[in-house]
Formats: sequence, C-alpha cells, structure tokens
Amino acid sequence: MFAAGRPYRALPGPSVLPESVLAAMQRSAPNIYAEDLRLLTEGLWPDLLSLVSPAPGTKLAAYIGNGHAAWEAALSNLFSPGDKVLAATSGLFGLGWANAARARGLEVQHLDGGQTAALEPGALEAALRADKGHKIKAVLVTHVDTASSVRNDLQALRAALEAAGHPALLLADCIASLGCDRVDMAGAGLDLVLAASQKGLMCPPGLSFLWYSEKAARAGVGAALRSPYWDWGPRAEPADYWHYWHGTAPTHHLYALRAALDLMKAEGMEGVLARHAGLARAVWAAAEVWFAGMDPGLGARLNVADPGARSHAVTSLRFGGQVGAALRDWCERVGGLTLGIGLGMGDAADPEGAAWARLAHMGHVNAHMTLGALGVIEAGLTALGLPHGKGAVEAAAAVLAEAAGR
Ligand SMILES: *Cc1c(COP(=O)(O)O)cnc(C)c1O
Repeated sequence: MFAAGRPYRALPGPSVLPESVLAAMQRSAPNIYAEDLRLLTEGLWPDLLSLVSPAPGTKLAAYIGNGHAAWEAALSNLFSPGDKVLAATSGLFGLGWANAARARGLEVQHLDGGQTAALEPGALEAALRADKGHKIKAVLVTHVDTASSVRNDLQALRAALEAAGHPALLLADCIASLGCDRVDMAGAGLDLVLAASQKGLMCPPGLSFLWYSEKAARAGVGAALRSPYWDWGPRAEPADYWHYWHGTAPTHHLYALRAALDLMKAEGMEGVLARHAGLARAVWAAAEVWFAGMDPGLGARLNVADPGARSHAVTSLRFGGQVGAALRDWCERVGGLTLGIGLGMGDAADPEGAAWARLAHMGHVNAHMTLGALGVIEAGLTALGLPHGKGAVEAAAAVLAEAAGR
C-alpha cells in the first residue's frame, strides 16, 4: 500500500548505489587499448590503497569477481596443498572461507568463536601456543561477519599472535567492514586484507581486492596453488594494462568505482566512519526500546550484546518466533523497505532463521534512510499486532541529534 516510490533495500550487500555511481556507468564501451582507461585505473590504485591505512610496501591486486573470488585469490597466492591454516570464525562467512580453504586442499583448524561475540584473543593465543612446531601458516579472520553482525578487534587478535610468539600471517576478510568500520591494516599488523565492491564501496558486485603486505608477498613465493589467473604479482605491478585484470578490464565498474571513491574522498574517511557509527548506534537504540516492551517469551534481542563488538555496517536483530520473517515480508510489501534475512542465524528450532531480520546501514545511507527504515519497522510491528516498547524512533533520533550537535 505504501511501497510505491523509491525502494530501500537495506541489505548488507549489494548496498545502495549512489546516483553518481549509476550515472558514471551510463556510457558506451570504452576502447580498452586507449590511454584513458589506463590512466583512470592508475588513479584508482592510490585511493584504494589509502582506504586500508597500509604499511609501506603494501601491494594491491584486483579481480573481476565477488567476495568468494577474493577468498580463493588469497588462498591461491599464499598456500600449497597440505599447508595448515587456522580459521577463527564468528558467524557464517568465516566458515565459507574455511570451506574454500579445505576445498583447495589445505588443512584447516577451526577456532569457533560462536556468533554472538567477538573472538577471544586469549583463545587465539592458546591455539597458537599449542602449535609448537609452527605448522599454522596463517590465521584467517572475518573483521565483520555480515550474518551475525559481530565485529572483531583485529588489533587485539594481532596482539594474541605476538603474545604467542607465533609467526603466522594474519589475514582479514574486510568485505563487510571496509568503508563502514575502521580498517587499519598497518595498525593491526594485517598481512592481507580482502574486500569487494558491493558493500561499503557502494558499487555493483563484480570487483574484489586484495591488499597484501611485504611479509605476505614473501610467504607466497612458490605457492603451488597459484595459477596465472590468480597470480597477484602482475595484477599489482602490471607491465601491460591487461595484467591488471588478466584479461579484459571491468570497464564500467571502473567508472563506478571512481565515482564512489570520489564520494568517500569528499566526505573524508573520518566522516564516513562517524556517519556509520552514528547510524548504527541509532539502530541499536531503537531496537533496545522495541525489545524492552516485547513478550519476554520471544527472546527478542540484539544478536551482539557488547556494543564494542557490534558492526557499524549491519545489525542482526532477533525478534523471536516467526516475527522476523513476518516483519520482513510486511516491510517490503507495504513499506518499500527490504530487510536482510536471518542468514546463517537459524537453529534446530528455527532452521530458516524466521526469528531474525538484519538491517544494513552500509555505504550510501544517511539519517533519513535509517530513521525511515526504523519507522517502517515500527509500523510493521504495530500492524502485525506485536506489542513492543514505545519511543524507539524517538530514541534513534535523539542519538543522531546528540552525535551531530548544532
Ligand atoms: C558479502 C560477504 C562475503 C561474500 O561476498 P560475495 O560477494 O557474496 O562472494 C564474504 N565475507 C563477508 C564478510 C561478506 O560480507
């Protein structure tokens, strides 16, 4: 009834496409042998590098592919079959990366951090101390798990490696966090960061990126999984333009990416991060008010209890029962708002994750979008006849007002 108008797909990827990104792609196919495309691409690299605050010597390789491609690209450049890695997970996506590693013939040790809290640095330290012969070549972590909305403290995990005196590489999936939560590659001593275009980078899916340290580059020498297509060397230091992509360039994605990076530059990374932090806190404030007034039997809650371990890109909300699914349906059908499904959040009693909804506040999102989304959810709770705490949108508005000041 109220869905006509501009839809808002508040999904944690693909995220909202800015007008300038869409407009940048409205053009005919360029000549891939002409200088313009090479100059455009060369201009993207320093801006992409600066997104992750890299240590000197960090290199960047890009791929035509989604996040799953980035996982395989990382594995291909670093390992040989039989190598051992430690996959420390806090939700669904780390499991996916671990499975990719197994499928490529790696030995994977799993450190299961559950899906409601950040990984315990002490648990990582203990696992690494137990690896007396230093067989573990790398630790794989997900910075922000997009299913659980857990955000890990990468600095603390790096400190755990140091405390254990373990030489393993530290590799981070920052697909959901880059452009939303602070990614400080040098500060957290990350040897590899991977990301994709369709989350905080506000572009269509189809591009992914690996930033890798000098230590990672050295560790990857002789990796038997590396094939010409995945090889990061020519992509990071192309002798010819086509080496960037190992084939035809992703032409229109490059125009889109230029426009997206220009938006980020204009706002400034600190502004981008502060906006995401404020919108996230507004969502949490609203959810707490709703949940306080809901039937305790539903077990409604924010998935991550510790605000310090919550992502600024997406919030996983457990409404309980079948409420998440009913609300998702109502919001999309009646309100033009698409919420994320309870991806990977189901259990034996609720295999489909019907209790859950995820609200993204990722990328090209501002106050009226988040407040509007919260208002639609509140209308949905009311229409569905679900008692809930009153004043949630007001609480969210107060958070934004306080954060912004005059
Ligand atoms: C979205 C996402 C992925 C998967 O990316 P695809 O583009 O769907 O392959 C992996 N990890 C994280 C943390 C993500 O948010």
